Amino acid sequence: MVSTISRHCLSFDVEEHFQVSAFESPMRRRHWDQFESRVEANTERLLEILAQRGVRATFFVLGWVAERYPSLVHRIASGGHEVASHGYAHELITSQTPNAFREDIRKAKAILESILSQSVLGYRAPSFSITKDTMWATEILVEEGYVYDSSIFPVLHDRYGVPSANPEVHQLLTASGVLWEVPPSTVKCLGVRVPVAGGGYFRLYPYTLLRALLRKLEGEGASLVMYMHPWEFDPSQPRMEGSLLSRMRHYLNLDKTEIRMRELLQDFSFAPIREVFPQIEQMHSARMVSQVSGV
Ligand SMILES: [Zn+2]
Repeated sequence: MVSTISRHCLSFDVEEHFQVSAFESPMRRRHWDQFESRVEANTERLLEILAQRGVRATFFVLGWVAERYPSLVHRIASGGHEVASHGYAHELITSQTPNAFREDIRKAKAILESILSQSVLGYRAPSFSITKDTMWATEILVEEGYVYDSSIFPVLHDRYGVPSANPEVHQLLTASGVLWEVPPSTVKCLGVRVPVAGGGYFRLYPYTLLRALLRKLEGEGASLVMYMHPWEFDPSQPRMEGSLLSRMRHYLNLDKTEIRMRELLQDFSFAPIREVFPQIEQMHSARMVSQVSGV
């Protein structure tokens, strides 16, 4: 039976334009503090667009950004949005040891929770880097108190993805307990799983095509899980050096993101992830109760 779902998830990975994995280099990382910061202005603009339409979303904020701009985290939360974690230093999990990963996600969660005085439930990995080789990360997420993850992209891609992964929201049974997995949206067309979740795909496809694909998915009863970045709304950001493919992906149609998002907000109804999937909130409450009662 096809059910009508009126609410979908919109999410943003809050990071600087120079922190994206496609342009990653140890040299550039050492100079992060010397680049012009644009994340605050870009996120403010985004918050304004969302407020104009009364839309609330989930913001996966990088710990590095939160540490430098705590008032931005407050402004996101005071707009009724969910604040979740994008890790601390934007290191791909595929290049981290389990211990380094644990440190990174623990630090990010602690920074965000100390700013907000409330629990952070969700995590999204830099560049969706929970893959077949880094599935160990899911049990560490549970151990560090995360309730859900939104990092396993069920697509074939050169840098990320688990093509055989379950494309629906589901429970992952890890050695340390249950983790809700909220995969970015994909839709099956002619036997192929096509990503429609946002980011570069959102800027690549003509909007009418994307809308048709999203409507198809909606018609199948799925909740959409979409993602974007504040830097995608900033066509005048300084250009970085990198491979031709990375530059094409990063800079394509940046001047169209805002207008397309306005159309998207008109056509679909969105809410934060923890509200769209109340089972996440329920699992969090149950964990809190068992911690207090020592069960
Ligand atoms: Zn990122």
